[in-house]
Amino acid sequence: MIDKILIANRGEIALRVIRACRELGIETVAVYSTADKNALHAQIADQSVCIGGARSSDSYLNTRAILAACEITGAQAIHPGFGFLSESSRFVRLCNKCGIKWIGPDADAMDAMGDKANAKATMIKAGVPVVRGSDGIVENVDEAKTIAADIGYPVLVKASAGGGGRGIRRADSEQELEKALAAAKEEALRFFGNDEVYIEKFIVDPRHVEVQILGDEYGNVIHLGERDCSCQRRNQKVLEESPSPIMTPELRAAMGEAAVKAARACGYKNAGTVEFLVDKDRNFYFMEMNARIQVEHPVTEMETGIDLVKQQILIAGGMKLGIKQEDVRLTGHTIECRVNAEDPKNGFRPCPGKIESIHVPGGFGVRIDTAVYQGYEIPQYYDSMIAKLIVHGEDRAEAITKMRVALGEMLIEGVQTNIDYQLSLLRDEDFINGNIDIGFLNRKDFS
Ligand code: ADP
Ligand code: ADP
Ligand code: MG
Repeated sequence: MIDKILIANRGEIALRVIRACRELGIETVAVYSTADKNALHAQIADQSVCIGGARSSDSYLNTRAILAACEITGAQAIHPGFGFLSESSRFVRLCNKCGIKWIGPDADAMDAMGDKANAKATMIKAGVPVVRGSDGIVENVDEAKTIAADIGYPVLVKASAGGGGRGIRRADSEQELEKALAAAKEEALRFFGNDEVYIEKFIVDPRHVEVQILGDEYGNVIHLGERDCSCQRRNQKVLEESPSPIMTPELRAAMGEAAVKAARACGYKNAGTVEFLVDKDRNFYFMEMNARIQVEHPVTEMETGIDLVKQQILIAGGMKLGIKQEDVRLTGHTIECRVNAEDPKNGFRPCPGKIESIHVPGGFGVRIDTAVYQGYEIPQYYDSMIAKLIVHGEDRAEAITKMRVALGEMLIEGVQTNIDYQLSLLRDEDFINGNIDIGFLNRKDFS
């Protein structure tokens, strides 16, 4: 068993992991940058080590300093949280070499899913539905034209090494294709040092529905239902919920089975998420696999009653998965709103600064995951998300009402936030009716 864990992250997710460790009787080591010396995670952990300067590249991405912190404190395992080093197979291999356990999947499983054209080929072999497109990498314009004519426009040219929405271009006609191909290749080379691209059909106004999975070291894999993350602004998730408003028991079973197949196909262990696009006719297509805990994991925790972070730690410690597929029950409806320090009236520009006062809501079925407090100075160097508000109700209508009441009570002074924007979203008729797709928020103006 593991008895000391280093958390290679900051903010609410670092706190979330520290709490899970405490409940399991495991000691914790926080790491922090010079900009984070007053951060809650650094104060609350059993031990804290400063690992470098404010910029992420000097601290939270500083692999040498993090491994040195393990060495000094005797931490046996690293929990990476999300972002930062959480999907770096290179760092996982480095940890393995140093005898430090990684709380997440193996480096090989990460690599199998990291290259998208490759991941797609693996999914096809495993019988998981994917968006129609080229068989792997497209070499030149002529090949691209033949494939696009066959699948029909519009198409997307996508970087195989892509991530974060980079290296993706849409082409609505043959004339546009040549330009899209060149632009996607150029961006892919610039961001990923690899200009390989592939082509797939552009799905019009799909939903983003993802499935949470858990796998142990003995080949057991289960799924924990879905999260609908269609409420996105420029590819950034804003609000997540479960069940998806379009879900049926049949579709959930089919998507869950596909997610489990996807995980098995790459020997996936620990917690992971399989992202799908779902079209108007409820056809679903594999999009990508996220090899880490996700921001929106509390949605699944509230729906299932399963503590995903504790499961991650137990699985990494070599425990057999104690939950069977038939034991997983989704109850009621859960919604999460991301509270960001940003100004919706000013193009959602981040608003770091000092929190003069804060009041957070509570009550039956209300959860808040945050690491900010009164007097805390939000640094400018990191993500602008400062809290996640999660509510659980009997059904979607009750969850929406509960979220409105909770957000209405929430008070943050000193910095701008998106709380009013979230309230407008919760009052929007299309949202209330479940009429959402990944482009829906980009078409609305709540500010
Ligand atoms: P997705 O599930 O589509 O990857 P997420 O919102 O979970 O979307 O994360 C988007 C990317 O940004 C991921 O790489 C995630 O690890 C990172 N990220 C998101 N929110 C934060 C945050 N508050 N702090 C650090 N990294 C974050
Ligand atoms: P990244 O790794 O950069 O997140 P994804 O493959 O997940 O790349 O795609 C990014 C976003 O682009 C998705 O979240 C989705 O909104 C959109 N997208 C991806 N593939 C398609 C497609 N075939 N049709 C329509 N939209 C898509
Ligand atoms: Mg994605």
